[in-house]
Amino acid sequence: MAKYFPVIGLEIHCQLSTRTKMFCGCEIEVNTTANKHVCPVCLGMPGAMPVPNRKAVEYAIRLGLALNCEIDLNAMWTRKNYFYPDLPKGYQITQTGGLPVYDHPICKNGWIEVTLEDGTVKRIGITRIHMEEDAGKLVHDMSPTSSHFDANRCGTPLCEIVTEPDIRSPEEAVLALQKIKQILEYTQVSNANMENGNMRCDGNISLRASEDAPFGTRCEIKNLNSFTNLEKALYAEIMLQTVTLDAGREVEQCTKRFDPNANKTIVIRSKEDAHDYKYFPEPDMVRLVTSPEFVENIRKTLPELPDARRERFVNEYGVTAYDAQVLTIEREVSEWFDSAAKNCKTPKILANWVISELLREVKELEGGLAAVKITPEQLATLVNLIADNTISGKIAKQVFAEMFETGEDPEKIIKEKGLVQVTDVSAIEPIVREVIAANEKQFAEFKSGNNPKMKGFFVGQVMKKSGGKANPGLVNQILDKLAAE
Ligand SMILES: [Zn+2]
Repeated sequence: MAKYFPVIGLEIHCQLSTRTKMFCGCEIEVNTTANKHVCPVCLGMPGAMPVPNRKAVEYAIRLGLALNCEIDLNAMWTRKNYFYPDLPKGYQITQTGGLPVYDHPICKNGWIEVTLEDGTVKRIGITRIHMEEDAGKLVHDMSPTSSHFDANRCGTPLCEIVTEPDIRSPEEAVLALQKIKQILEYTQVSNANMENGNMRCDGNISLRASEDAPFGTRCEIKNLNSFTNLEKALYAEIMLQTVTLDAGREVEQCTKRFDPNANKTIVIRSKEDAHDYKYFPEPDMVRLVTSPEFVENIRKTLPELPDARRERFVNEYGVTAYDAQVLTIEREVSEWFDSAAKNCKTPKILANWVISELLREVKELEGGLAAVKITPEQLATLVNLIADNTISGKIAKQVFAEMFETGEDPEKIIKEKGLVQVTDVSAIEPIVREVIAANEKQFAEFKSGNNPKMKGFFVGQVMKKSGGKANPGLVNQILDKLAAE
């Protein structure tokens, strides 16, 4: 099998989390009575006039700024003609298509950066972000003989983010999608939940014989709804195109879907081009004119973005680059850590607690981080109690488990259970002597200095006998003192 070089671009659709629809005042509500939120505009009744949702425009600009895009202050709406049974209008209002003169998406020429496995930072271009509206939904499982139509989703605002074909492997594609999802969450313009369909991704992929050869013919794989499926679908398509090219045949441009069970990409439509949709400027809409002040105001309220937050965690709290990376993957986790770290004397140790204790528990917890009973301040206090030797790290784990169950303050748990670390030499020494008396042979070995492991044995025994409460540092000191006697 010959080696080919993949060229990949992504198109990411995300649902904006506005309260109302793109061009009418109907509310957006999921899992409700079918056709509850409809009106002449979102049903496409003749004569009904669309009015753009200011909040949706604001969100699109916020996203564009976060993705380093230029904002078009004179964007344009176009009409994309479709026939879909779940699209009563027979068209979709969008910002793309046809002649370049019609092509004025709200954002263009941006970029993101991803960190590759070898540590290099790679920049991936964002060609454009355009706004459009979603279609409704067909419901097939209500009766065996008929399908039903629910228009609640008709007119829901979407943004489509299109990347440049800068991606060179399925792993890079996953990194790019992760970064975009992260930015969607940080800017809070979309819930970006792939399982709920708030966000879905199409992958365009072609192969070429060398890294500087012209691009090959591409296929588009539609509606990939998880990182795993994106990666698997791209690999499956690379395999298929490799076999095709090796056999001396040509790859045919087409639109595909991915079947995860068969691990195969399947053709759903052959070659389609922009002119198939008969785009034209939307006659019911004027241009989407925004002012530089409007854009500047949005820029001023942009939140701290993931890359900046990651760097700040390293600089401000001294956490490792790896820990900062883990702590900033999800906005909520990063905010939780941030408010805990502000109250903590040893943020670097706190980072370990959040990553290895808290997040491990959260994984198993229904409702995720939002359902956690411990407050950031309480965890900071617990870590502070280790720092000032009130409790040992081992006892702290016991206290943490109790806090996670009950949401009680660590001081209260420590007091009630009598878990305060014993830092009094006169209280520890008798325990050490007792352990030595019970293990004379081992103590002689320790004293001889021939078996360095023996010290660990004695520390372990003393800790056990003290119920984990003896200060390990002091146990070590006392052992050394008695061995020297
Ligand atoms: Zn409506």
